[in-house]
Amino acid sequence: MFNKVSHIGIAVKDLQSSMDLFSRLFGKKPDHTEELPDQKVKTAMFTVGPSSIELTQATDPSSPVSRFLEKRGEGVHHVSFVVDDIERELARLKGAGFELIDERPRIGADGTLVAFLHPQSTNGVLIEISQKQ
Ligand code: ZN
Repeated sequence: MFNKVSHIGIAVKDLQSSMDLFSRLFGKKPDHTEELPDQKVKTAMFTVGPSSIELTQATDPSSPVSRFLEKRGEGVHHVSFVVDDIERELARLKGAGFELIDERPRIGADGTLVAFLHPQSTNGVLIEISQKQ
């Protein structure tokens, strides 16, 4: 079952300057920063009430975030939803005809299990589902 929006992911070119910008916007520092070598990104998470904003910068030109920035520029990159049981949701979504980028969950920021759906099957919106371990 989909629960709340976990976070909105924003693709940025320069994480440090975007962290400064969003720190001014929210009036606080990020709650968590992390580099994810397998996804070739570094991230900063700001908790905002019941949800979060995740800033993501690519650390390598082959990162999907680099390709996104080239095509679309900086801006909203994905919407992430908390699910109870990510394996069950992936099976349900596949059965319902959605195209999965990740057939199996992988480790995302802060040790959560995450999987992405292809935006071609979701009206152009990259959707992430995540389950806390
Ligand atoms: Zn995310």
